[in-house]
Amino acid sequence: MSPTTDPNCVFCRIVSGEIRADIVAETDNAFAFRDLAPQAPIHVLVAPRRHLAALRDVRDSDTELLGEMLLLTREVAKREGLFAGGFRVITNDGPDAGQTVPHLHFHVLGGQPLTAPLG
Ligand code: 5GP
Ligand code: ZN
Repeated sequence: MSPTTDPNCVFCRIVSGEIRADIVAETDNAFAFRDLAPQAPIHVLVAPRRHLAALRDVRDSDTELLGEMLLLTREVAKREGLFAGGFRVITNDGPDAGQTVPHLHFHVLGGQPLTAPLG
């Protein structure tokens, strides 16, 4: 079982309120907040409250959490007005993917036609 929180983790420090963030939606086990350095007009991160380093760390017992995160991702896209134009969901896992914050998160990107790296 992963520890619930990591005092050195920037997203755990957002969960605890120690670091401010623009929270756009929340559920019991996940939260969504605007990225500090947006790469699209809408760039929101969806993360579990509990510290999990990346997708590779989830367990079979995390089925409900992952479902909750995806449903929150959908809710964010809806609230941010992305249903008409569409949106992209990305997670970076590990160094080859360029993960910089080792706390699982989904990037929700939209608001304009998206290009690199997946366009
Ligand atoms: P990664 O590269 O790990 O997939 O994504 C980490 C994301 O977290 C980056 O897009 C970065 O801009 C964002 N980020 C890093 N530190 C903070 C922070 O303190 N607050 C917020 N809101 N976003 C952050
Ligand atoms: Zn964390």
